[in-house]
Order: sequence, then C-alpha cells, then structure tokens
Amino acid sequence: MAEGAGTAAEHALWNTALTLLVVSVLRGLFTMAQNYYGEAVGHQTGYELRLAFYEKIQRLSFAFHDRVHTGDLITLGLLDLDGVRMFFSTGVLRVVLLGVLIGVGAYLLISTDPVLGLLSLSFVPFVAWRSSVTQLRLRSTWLTLQQRLSVLSRVMDENLGGIRVVRAFAAQSHEKFDRAKQDALDLANERVDIRVGNTSAMNFSFLAAMGLVLWFGGQKVMAGQISVGTLAQFLTFMTILQMPVRQLGLMVNSFARASTCGTRLFELLDTELDIKDAPGARDLVVTEGVLRFDDVGFRYGGSGGRPTLSGISFEARPGQTIGIVGPPGSGKSTIAHLIPRFYDVTRGTITIDGQDIRAVTLQSLRKAVGVVQQDAFLFTTSIENNIAYGNPWARETRIERAAESAQLHNYIIGLPAGYTTIVGERGASLSGGQRQRLTIARSLMLRPSVLVLDDSTAAIDAGTEQRIRAAMKRFAKDRVTLIISHRLSSLMHADEILFVEGGRIVERGTHEELLALGGRYRALYDLQLRPDDAALGAA
Ligand code: ATP
Repeated sequence: MAEGAGTAAEHALWNTALTLLVVSVLRGLFTMAQNYYGEAVGHQTGYELRLAFYEKIQRLSFAFHDRVHTGDLITLGLLDLDGVRMFFSTGVLRVVLLGVLIGVGAYLLISTDPVLGLLSLSFVPFVAWRSSVTQLRLRSTWLTLQQRLSVLSRVMDENLGGIRVVRAFAAQSHEKFDRAKQDALDLANERVDIRVGNTSAMNFSFLAAMGLVLWFGGQKVMAGQISVGTLAQFLTFMTILQMPVRQLGLMVNSFARASTCGTRLFELLDTELDIKDAPGARDLVVTEGVLRFDDVGFRYGGSGGRPTLSGISFEARPGQTIGIVGPPGSGKSTIAHLIPRFYDVTRGTITIDGQDIRAVTLQSLRKAVGVVQQDAFLFTTSIENNIAYGNPWARETRIERAAESAQLHNYIIGLPAGYTTIVGERGASLSGGQRQRLTIARSLMLRPSVLVLDDSTAAIDAGTEQRIRAAMKRFAKDRVTLIISHRLSSLMHADEILFVEGGRIVERGTHEELLALGGRYRALYDLQLRPDDAALGAA
C-alpha cells in the first residue's frame, strides 16, 4: 500500500515536473515568436502606416488643413498610429499564447480532479471580467486623456509657433496651458485610482481561490484521496495561470484601443481628396504661357453668405505683369491660391494656354506656377537647401544666380558659413525681409511660367525692392508675373492693375488710366505716394 502511494506520488511529481517543463518551453517559444515576429510585424505595420499617413497629409487640400488643427494631426500620427502598431506588435500573437496557456492549464487541472480543478479555476472568470472592465474603463479615460493631450499639444504648437507673441503676452498663454495641463493631470490621477483598485480586487479573488483549493485539497489529502504532490501541482498551475488571465484584460484593451485608433486613422487615410488629378488628366503643356481668368467665382467651404470672389476675369500674356491691389480681406490672396489649385474655383475657369487647370495634372501645374506667399516659411536646413527646395539637384551657380536676383547673395557670402549656414527653425535667425528674399529666390529656381508674388516684398525696403525688380526683369520677360501688394510702388509699373474690393474687380487699367479715373486707386495713391500727401500735411 505504502509502496503504491509512493509510486503515485512519484508519478505526480514526474507529471508536474514534465508539465512545468513543457509549459515553460512552450511559453518561452511563444514569447520568442511574439517578440520576434510580433515586433517585426508591428514595426513593418507602423512603417507602412506612417508612410501612408505622411503621404496623405501631403496630398490633402488646403481646405482640409483649414479645418483640422496641426496639433490634432500630430496626435493622430503619433498616438493613434502607435495604438494600431502596438496591437500588431504585442496583441495578435499574445492572444494565441494566452488562449493556449489557459486552455491547456484548464484541461490539465480539470482532468486531474474535476472538483479541485473547477475550484482552482474559480478566480478565472472574475479576474478576466474585472480586468477587461477595468481596461475598458481605463481605455475610455485614456481617450479623454488623449483629447486633453491633444489640446495640450495644440496649445504647445501654437505657443512655440508664435513664441515671440507668447513672450509679449506670457500671462494669458500660461493660463491656457496650465488649464490643459491640470485637466490632463487630474485624469492621469483618476487612472491611477482605477488601476490600484482593480489590482487589489484581482489579488483578493486569486488568493481567495487559492485558500479554497488549499482547504478542500487539504481535506482530500487528509482523506488520502490525492497526494500532497497533486495539491502542490494545483497550486503551482494556479500561479502559472494567474498572469495570462490577468493579461486577458490587456488584450481586450489593446484590441479596443487599436479599433478606435484605427477608426480615426483610417478615417483620415480614407478622406476623399477634394483637389486631385481628374481621371485621364494630362500634363500641362506650356506653349506660350497665357494665363486667363474667365468669370471666376469662389467661396470658402463653410463660409455662408457672399462669395469671397466673383466675376474675376483677366488675361496675362508672357512678359506681362498684373498688379492686384485692394483693401485687406478683399480676396487678393485668394486669387493667388486658385492658380496652383490650392483651392478649386466654384465658378468660371482658369486656363493656362487654353488648358483648364482642373484638367491637367497637379504636379505639372504646380511646377508651372510659383507662388511666393505672405508667410515666408523656411525649413531648418542650410540656406542653399532652402533656395533649392523645389529643385534639389540644381547647380550651385544657379542657386547663386537666384539669390543674386533676390538681392540676397551679398548678404549670404558675408556669413561665416556662406550658403551652408543653417537657418533657425522657420528661418528664425533671419530678418523678415531676408526671409522674404530667400523665398523669392526659391521660386525663381523653378523658372515657373506664372510667378505670383503675394505681398512678398512687404518686409523689404523700397530701394531693395526696386533692385529685385530690376534683376528680375530679364527673368520676367518670358513669363506672367502677378504682384499682390498693399504698396502701390510695388505694382505701379504693372501692365494692368486690378483694384479688388469685396471679391470683385472694381477698377482696372494701367497706373495712368487709374489715376485719371479718380476713383479708389487714385485715393490710395494720394494717401501713399503723392508728395503733398494730405496725411503727411496734416501731421
Ligand atoms: P490681405 O490684404 O489682408 O492679405 P486679401 O485681400 O489677400 O487680404 P484674402 O486672404 O484673399 O484677402 O481673404 C479674402 C476673404 O476670405 C477674407 O474675408 C477672409 O476672411 C476669407 N478667408 C481667407 N482665407 C480663408 C480660409 N482659409 N477659410 C475661410 N475664409 C478665408
């Protein structure tokens, strides 16, 4: 009898040792597979998604970027994208591993002793439920946290972008940042509370199940129904099972997170491009380079009421300069934005050499149209790279010629590192006028058929502007130049000047014709340029 009991105990010992060995090997293999393949799949997925995200952001229209804040896009590209990546990285294979571990463990326990097996597993439903519910609660707070972090990054983005303004009004910006930061901190604390409460409940239920197994199992050992080894086997398996069961909640969370993050991310990736190549679009063929606006009307999306532009018609032939002037908000920049199709006209047509700009490929159109915008944006790289941005393979001499025309060459060669000088973030180390001249040089590099200078000389003194104009004369000979300016001296020489007000051309003609007309242009001229300026006289 004693020998039989001894053999049974030995059997149980061997069984346990063997099972432990098999489980450990399996777990090790799975963990290795998960780490290796999971990480590999995760990184690949992350890479592909990041690429798709970046490409989409580049292609989405100005109207989209008007609607969606940069801070929100950054959150989407970092946090949401990571939510999806993490699921592939750790979620998918771990679900398989957990399923196998729990399934095999449960089978072994129940097949050894059904009652004790069920008692050992009694903590599983509670812990799995509790862990899932908690993770889902954490998830909903995480979403709110993400929104608050998004507000935080938006505030940060705005503050950093406008750091000079922020310095001048420090108190107000602080207040906004502090509020966003406090909101995020409160929520982070709430998450700690949820997590701590849950861990205690899960520990309690596991220890209670262990107590039950010890109690009933101990009685069975005393009654000689099972050996001490078998009881030890149950307790060991319970300990092994504990972690995977707790991790079930993590998996539920990982899946839920990936599905919400994925929904948001794919919503962006699936956004219809409102400005894109028409089916069968061909490259723009510039034969002469005639730009024509034919009864063009435009309304910004969401702007009810009056259209921003209406009835805009003009024609410009190569070598001609069109000046556009008018009060702030009259629609001058909007006219400029329609030519490279930053926005599409809502009425009428714009053609270059008779080809509707909506019927040609965007790439060929944007190569043919250079816009120097009001906001002289520069990249944090060398002056040389900033000038050659649209044509990275350009020769040095060409870069220098563009800089010479923009009256910037002498300044650049005076710098210790010359053309390789790195400009600060968004060109912070350059003056406003230097930034504008650099963006003019950048546009000249492209040799566009249509060059639009949108208030791009506002920060440049009149003398330098005159020199730029003289240097650009040769360049302007065979292309159309559109000059938008508040300063009449910048466009007085234009072949035709359009005076825009309320989105309509209210006066048009040469400088002399408009002066003779005695209307709004004349009034502006009197205010800005006449030697016996009434305003000066009054002062
Ligand atoms: P400024 O001389 O001040 O540069 P502008 O004549 O160039 O002004 P636009 O910038 O073309 O004027 O703006 C014309 C009108 O369209 C304004 O009323 C402006 O508020 C509105 N507007 C400009 N950009 C947008 C936009 N992205 N979304 C909605 N409305 C806009």
